[in-house]
Amino acid sequence: MTDKRDYYEVLGVGRNAAPNEIKQAYRQAALKYHPDRNKEASAEERFKEAAEAYEVLSDPEKRQRYDRFGHAGLDGVGIHDFGGMGVDDIFSIFSDLFGGDVFSGAFGGRARSRADRGIDIQTVIEIDLKDVLTGVKKTLRFERLDFCDRCGGQGAEPGTDRRNCPTCGGYGQVEQQTSMGFFVTRSVVDCPKCHGRGSLVDKPCRKCNGSGRSRKGALIEVKVQAGIHDGQTIRVPGQGEPSRNGTARGDLRCVIRVRAHQFLQREGDHLVCLLPISFTQAALGAQVDVPTLTGTTPLRIPAGTQHGAVFQLPGKGLPNMRSGRRGDQVVQVLIEIPKKLGREQEDLLRKFAATEDKNVLPESKGFFERVKEYLTGDVNGQVNGQE
Ligand SMILES: [Zn+2]
Ligand SMILES: [Zn+2]
Repeated sequence: MTDKRDYYEVLGVGRNAAPNEIKQAYRQAALKYHPDRNKEASAEERFKEAAEAYEVLSDPEKRQRYDRFGHAGLDGVGIHDFGGMGVDDIFSIFSDLFGGDVFSGAFGGRARSRADRGIDIQTVIEIDLKDVLTGVKKTLRFERLDFCDRCGGQGAEPGTDRRNCPTCGGYGQVEQQTSMGFFVTRSVVDCPKCHGRGSLVDKPCRKCNGSGRSRKGALIEVKVQAGIHDGQTIRVPGQGEPSRNGTARGDLRCVIRVRAHQFLQREGDHLVCLLPISFTQAALGAQVDVPTLTGTTPLRIPAGTQHGAVFQLPGKGLPNMRSGRRGDQVVQVLIEIPKKLGREQEDLLRKFAATEDKNVLPESKGFFERVKEYLTGDVNGQVNGQE
């Protein structure tokens, strides 16, 4: 983190630079270090560095935080991870800066359009709560559109070539004029003839009819990080599908679903479990086994524990995605009342009740009979009379 260069230095502007100056400086840096034009080894890194600097300095709030606290002030502020992004994606983020002419003209006629990015596809990865603890590798098998084997994605019959598109001259984009009353707007759109690719096929590939794509099985291993949450998405770059006339695959997005656990429920990085114990265990104290993610762990229930009491098992929760520190497991006890008593048990409880000086019903059987009477309304109109 600390080896990051100063953003003002990256863009070569003073600390009081006006927004316009910053924009201009970034525009120049981006064009200078675009890997398509600049073949130096460090060009891509410089390009990404400039994008990051611009993202921060062009946003008044982020710039203010950076001015006051330096790089540390931007923790958790939400900046793109340019290091992991493709140059084209970065370009598309700031495309408003590189309108029309620069966008299509600066890069030597190589078609650059949204079609080049490919199509993102999405899948779901189901994991167990236990996998959240350790992290897990999942192998995905699925079908996707991929580059055609016969033509290698070119769409041209082997032995033949694609030729430059005459409509756009190979740029892939054309200028469009739209007039509304007195106003004429000029914008740059994908070439309608070659769909943004910049080239055409004379003899389409027999297998894919010139589309360059065919359906294929894919086998991909995805690493799921420990501490991940249900609903989070893992992006696997370049494992999506090529778009129509595209030359690159999009990304594969894996949405994580965490299966419910039999005993444990997740609350952030903590785990909660409800533990039924008998009323004698609660009254007299007991040693019980609590289910955890990896098995069981012993827990001492002190004498006189109340219904709903909470116990903590520190560090038995899930790892935090960022810090790796594990949360706690929280155990809440539920006191269970026996539904049926043996003869001897009932005798003992009655003796116990006598010591408590509390009013109890004479016979449990009689109690149930009274409830039955109540529910059937057979209590001399006392219940029915409410209407
Ligand atoms: Zn064209
Ligand atoms: Zn083909």
